[in-house]
Amino acid sequence: MDNPAEKPPQKAAPKLRTFAQFLETSPPDVAEEVCERVSRATPIRLGGEAAYLSTPDLQLHCEQCGGVRTFECSDDSIYLVEALNYKYLRYECRNCRKTEKKFAVVIKGASGTGPVQKLGELPPFGPPTPPRVFKLIGEEYRELFLQGRRAENKGLGIGAYAYYRRIVEHQKGQIIEEIGKVAKKLGATPEVMKTFTDARSETQFATAIEKIKKGIPESLLIDGHNPLTLLHTALSEGLHELTDQECLTLATSIRVVLTELADRISTALKEAATLKSAVGRLLNRKLT
Ligand SMILES: [Zn+2]
Repeated sequence: MDNPAEKPPQKAAPKLRTFAQFLETSPPDVAEEVCERVSRATPIRLGGEAAYLSTPDLQLHCEQCGGVRTFECSDDSIYLVEALNYKYLRYECRNCRKTEKKFAVVIKGASGTGPVQKLGELPPFGPPTPPRVFKLIGEEYRELFLQGRRAENKGLGIGAYAYYRRIVEHQKGQIIEEIGKVAKKLGATPEVMKTFTDARSETQFATAIEKIKKGIPESLLIDGHNPLTLLHTALSEGLHELTDQECLTLATSIRVVLTELADRISTALKEAATLKSAVGRLLNRKLT
């Protein structure tokens, strides 16, 4: 029999995240209870509590520096009162002093622990997109891709799908050309290269894919599949018949395939260049 004196184990309260972790990773419009909100408390004024907001260093992606860097806040005297505090935080990359990150936040109360929520941030929230993705889809489609990314981050499936779909439909020729560059570097014959030129100007995506299917370098296959076929499959679904959630799944698939293809193209071109220079060095080596 169970010992009645033995109490069931208490569920540990979920560990609160810090204000810094919240700023680094939380999307806008989501309220969260966090700790370490306050840097220094001030004497009680007019019977209420007051304090200064903590403005911790953050680890954020810096596009200029090309990686995660320490960002620091330009203001450490943001005053909080026992009410809703609408505040604006400006951060700067400590390494290059060029990249900025701005947050608009609302903080309830002036105690160390309590609810906070982002009202917005600039550049917009979301994991960074590698520059090679923009090279693949064309720089002029950067903004449309980022719009898609924002919609995807907010769970707006129909919106995200429509943005990505438009990019792939408009830029399939550009994507085919980038794949062709890899084929050429890997020594594709002039006949194969002609299929890429023909496919680039083909308006029907399915026909274009058919034309170059033999010429796609093996190193660009994603899980054994032709990346263009994967994109085409994702585009073939009719927007009107899908739920928002189905659109979101398709949108994410399109983005993942584009990102993976951009990675593979970049790696394949680098490897081809390294191989070429290694062979060149060997051939030029004087035999003594
Ligand atoms: Zn930087």
